[in-house]
Amino acid sequence: MIDVSRMPTFRRGVCVTASDVKPDDMYPHPTDLDGIAFAKSACEFCSVATECLRDALALPTSKDQAGVRGGTTAEERKAMRKRNRRLTREAAKQAADAAAA
Ligand code: SF4
Repeated sequence: MIDVSRMPTFRRGVCVTASDVKPDDMYPHPTDLDGIAFAKSACEFCSVATECLRDALALPTSKDQAGVRGGTTAEERKAMRKRNRRLTREAAKQAADAAAA
């Protein structure tokens, strides 16, 4: 479940406030496509989705709890971190190449 004590803004999250969304609903099994779609639909209408996704992405993959956050699954966030690391490496290389030219 979202740690609202660590990030009070999450008290406004749909998964915390909506009566028809139970905490377990945000942790569907990776093969439960209907469950994933339901959890993502909660995030779609959440006013703190951006902050929630940013918070989840700030965690290392090993500490990221399996669950839908900010409209993404843990696997999707893992891929996003990988892509972000690659883009950061490429930007650093381009800056180094430009400095050396
Ligand atoms: S974005 Fe999703 S997981 Fe995050 S607080 Fe909102 S409903 Fe919960």
